[in-house]
Amino acid sequence: MNEERLWAPWRLAYVTGNELADDPSPPEPLAWREGSDTTCFLCRAAATYEPPLSADRRLLIAQRNSHTLVVINRYPYNNGHLLIAPARHVGCLGDLSRDEHVESMETLARLTNVYERCLRADGFNIGLNLGKVAGAGLPGHLHWHLVPRWHGDNNFMPVLAGVRVIPQSLDELWQTLTDALAD
Ligand SMILES: [Zn+2]
Repeated sequence: MNEERLWAPWRLAYVTGNELADDPSPPEPLAWREGSDTTCFLCRAAATYEPPLSADRRLLIAQRNSHTLVVINRYPYNNGHLLIAPARHVGCLGDLSRDEHVESMETLARLTNVYERCLRADGFNIGLNLGKVAGAGLPGHLHWHLVPRWHGDNNFMPVLAGVRVIPQSLDELWQTLTDALAD
């Protein structure tokens, strides 16, 4: 995917009056999970923080489950782009436990429902890049990409200019998702 992504959070901020969170220094964990790679951003997300909610907001963690977590992608392909990952640092599908498999799929399913309801998504791309050759940016820690799609989101701007406009700020998306997932 070569197209340039033009991230335009001010388009919604203009409408809602919310400000984009700006965080040059991420919070330091109180405790890492056993087996974590401290250079891995998903392991950093899966660590324990105090206070937990403000760290989750800064790290864009939309949900923590027993075995998995949902993180908003800071470099989205489209509005609402999420990463669903096991909390454990594991790079091979075959090394996931049954509970991790089941919870990953259940979480993906739940998120499609939430996006249909909250963002009125018309469809989804869901995928897993296994290995560097397949485009995995972080080959040591499995993560599914969930990208919501809307009718017309691939028209006009991407075709004419090679640019995709992403109108929602990441902080607003975090609020929308955490509210919806708490229902
Ligand atoms: Zn990791």
